[in-house]
Amino acid sequence: QPTTTADYETVQVLGHGNGGTVYKVVQKKTSNLFALKVVNAGSDPTMRRQVFREMDILRRTDSPYVVKCHEIFEKPDGDIAILMEYMDAGTLDSLSKTGGALTERTLAHVARQILNGLNYLHAHKIVHRDIKPANLLVNKNMEVKIADFGVSKIMHRTLDACDSYVGTCAYMSPERFDPDSYGANYNGYSGDIWSLGLTMLELFVGHFPLLPTGQKPDWATLMCAICFGEPPSLPEGVSDEFRGFIECCLQKDSGKRWTASQLLSHPFCRQPDNN
Ligand code: ADP
Repeated sequence: QPTTTADYETVQVLGHGNGGTVYKVVQKKTSNLFALKVVNAGSDPTMRRQVFREMDILRRTDSPYVVKCHEIFEKPDGDIAILMEYMDAGTLDSLSKTGGALTERTLAHVARQILNGLNYLHAHKIVHRDIKPANLLVNKNMEVKIADFGVSKIMHRTLDACDSYVGTCAYMSPERFDPDSYGANYNGYSGDIWSLGLTMLELFVGHFPLLPTGQKPDWATLMCAICFGEPPSLPEGVSDEFRGFIECCLQKDSGKRWTASQLLSHPFCRQPDNN
């Protein structure tokens, strides 16, 4: 007998995303907790494309650093429900907003896990394209997993330079705005590394690093800051390892940025882990 959403009971709403709602649910038979993302993909073709892309990618991935998808339910009315592993500490965004900025040591632990996830995805020809604190889920064991593949892309050619505008432009790398100036060896993967660098910087300083605190991001200001400004960097007082790591991620020229596997051997990531 196939399982249905009736085998799960809603505990609470975890969050609203674009086009859908994520619920914390309990499997009645086992009492195990899961997250169920329900998307009303009914008639909107863009939404349907996005959901099917996410489903396709979740079905292909199996890594401890990527949020696990257990089952996908499609209802006759067009609604789609994705049953995922439940991450009981929320996102890195909510965690840093409630618990304050993260320390260097915690960030080394976080970076390692995201890099393991990116290394896995890139080896499977998947570019995430929307790495940011709100798309990184955490559990109480401080395990960090990459989520939200709504705008990700499976690369069919090694050089797939055509890039449509998707995702949050705040974390977008310079070559996604202007491939001619910043896209040496542009392959898409390095865009995820830029976003990772910006994410790490934000989690350390406690606010989005490309804009003054409190300023509402608008597209033009962001694009100017990303393309024409110096890459943002860490404040005084951090270790050389951390500073070097951020610099390796936030190279404006995509060809100079380190890859996920190179960054995993960076001294910042190789510090002993006491988490
Ligand atoms: P988006 O806003 O990027 O579309 P989602 O719809 O995927 O995000 O998720 C909305 C919110 O639900 C997230 O910000 C997060 O707080 C929560 N959430 C999503 N997936 C999970 C999960 N597997 N475990 C716990 N919470 C989750």
